Amino acid sequence: MCKQKRYRSKFWEKYKLEELDTNEWEALCDGCGKCCLRKIEDADTNEVFYTNVSCKLLDTHTARCKNYKMRKKLVPDCIKLTPKNIKEIAYWMPDTCGYRRVFYGEALEKWHPLISKNPNSATEADQTVADKTISEDNVNEEDLENFINEKWS
Ligand code: SF4
Repeated sequence: MCKQKRYRSKFWEKYKLEELDTNEWEALCDGCGKCCLRKIEDADTNEVFYTNVSCKLLDTHTARCKNYKMRKKLVPDCIKLTPKNIKEIAYWMPDTCGYRRVFYGEALEKWHPLISKNPNSATEADQTVADKTISEDNVNEEDLENFINEKWS
């Protein structure tokens, strides 16, 4: 039998990120996979451009990490998002990301699973990167700019 996860009612509106328990923290992720796309940051303006190129550990069909437990070892510059580092990271997270939205005091997207109560709603709303990206293993670093896609930012 599956253990049901329990959350405090509308916790994302009532509590700060650092006040969430582990279940609540993880439930803020809608599984879009956008944070695992390669990005280009303009050094002068800090503007961030998302690309269709994914981290080599992202399963491009499911938009899930292929080795979540070992990701820091396998991809040393992978960043583990925490309530402490969100303030340095939020500006380059995608607009739709639940962590970013709660950090900036914004409502979750209406298709977010916590709002829709449907675990597949991000996919149904065409918000995941599943089957829409190419692995960085198949792209030359100097060609990255050619893969910029504003849809993801
Ligand atoms: S961008 Fe945010 S919501 Fe999407 S997978 Fe990353 S952490 Fe989860």
